Amino acid sequence: MKKIDVITIGGGLAGLTAAIHLRIQGFEIQVVEPNLYPKHKVCGEYISNEVKPYLSSLGIDVDGAGAKDIKRFQLTNTKNKSIEAELPLGGFGISRYTLDKLMADRAIELGVEIIQDKVTNVTYGGNGFKVELKKSSSPLISTLVVGAYGKRSTLDKNLGRRFIKERTPWIGVKSHYESTFPEDLVSLNHFEGGYCGLSNVENQRVNACYLIHQSTFQKYRNIEDVQNNVLSANPFMAEFYASSKMLFNKPLSISQIYFGKRDLVYNHILMIGDTGGMIHPLAGNGMAIAIHSAKLASESVSLFLEGKMSKGEMEHRYAIERKKAFAKRIRAGKYIQSLFEKQKLSHQAMQLVHYVPFIIPSIIRLTHGKPISTLDKSKNCCIIA
Ligand SMILES: Cc1cc2nc3c(=O)[nH]c(=O)nc-3n(C[C@H](O)[C@H](O)[C@H](O)COP(=O)(O)OP(=O)(O)OC[C@H]3O[C@@H](n4cnc5c(N)ncnc54)[C@H](O)[C@@H]3O)c2cc1C
Repeated sequence: MKKIDVITIGGGLAGLTAAIHLRIQGFEIQVVEPNLYPKHKVCGEYISNEVKPYLSSLGIDVDGAGAKDIKRFQLTNTKNKSIEAELPLGGFGISRYTLDKLMADRAIELGVEIIQDKVTNVTYGGNGFKVELKKSSSPLISTLVVGAYGKRSTLDKNLGRRFIKERTPWIGVKSHYESTFPEDLVSLNHFEGGYCGLSNVENQRVNACYLIHQSTFQKYRNIEDVQNNVLSANPFMAEFYASSKMLFNKPLSISQIYFGKRDLVYNHILMIGDTGGMIHPLAGNGMAIAIHSAKLASESVSLFLEGKMSKGEMEHRYAIERKKAFAKRIRAGKYIQSLFEKQKLSHQAMQLVHYVPFIIPSIIRLTHGKPISTLDKSKNCCIIA
């Protein structure tokens, strides 16, 4: 069995970013991903522009794939109040169906091997890693492993990660709609027990994705009842549902979304994207953090594989860089989320921003980063256009 430089567990945004970045630098990479591309995922699909130049330096052309430019932000509530502001940096809307496939195609084009399987266990033996798979009886062998398998997986249980025992009350629901919702707008619509994001993606589709507390959800029999009774209590959502046509047979949903702390390095595996920790979705920045954290991990991995630092230094560097880049905004996301959770507080906060609307861009800046640097092409050893 050939020993590979790096295996990334999971081929979502974080795993594919790391795979492409490291492959461009000349390393041998395998990605293990159980799903075939393309596939819909529960996600608001609004991405901050901070990652666009970096994606472009990896050869990912989101504009060519039809991404929508998003410049304005709107906040609404059940009291029929609405506040609008320009987004300081802006963002773009693209479905995960299209984006993950675009990135997987790019990875394959560069020579990354994508293995359609599920990782069941990983062991570290001093000299490298053994990665066990669900479908294949022969394990994969590598010098390094990057964990990019998303919010939670049975692998967390098998690895003995502590957070997996925590119960969490959040449910995420997403669907695409045919709608006249404005192309350059992302709106956050508050309702009792949660909020729903609306924004355009490619092909004239509008993404409606909401996060809802289990205690609210459980009062109703199904998603349709929840949407009719809870989300539609916000007049902006009622109007959206009345004037739009759902394009999925039924909405996608996920549960057990955990926002607490997780290890950034566990059993010598560098944890990137959601696997290393999640920001509250209302901050609209999880995808940018997934991509940026993959870049940070790749930079540390390169230094180790080039013999410029020890394994311990590589692990330490990644953990420090990740905390430096995201700790503040994850904290800001948490505070804003706690405001939204309390109906009364949220109405008061809405009233405050109604009178001083110019504070909205400052709040958005707290949860977003500055544009991240592009891949340093002078260091590439195998650039493929
Ligand atoms: C309701 C909701 C709305 C959101 N809205 C937004 C938004 O509008 N904007 C934004 O920026 N972020 C948003 N986010 C956050 C964003 O979706 C995530 O932060 C982002 O998807 C993280 O990417 P990732 O690569 O870490 O994980 P993922 O994209 O989840 O990829 C993980 C991959 O690992 C694979 N995998 C799992 N287990 C294994 C295993 N054992 N072996 C191998 N592979 C495995 C999975 O199949 C998957 O493809 C939202 C999140 C939620 C819950």
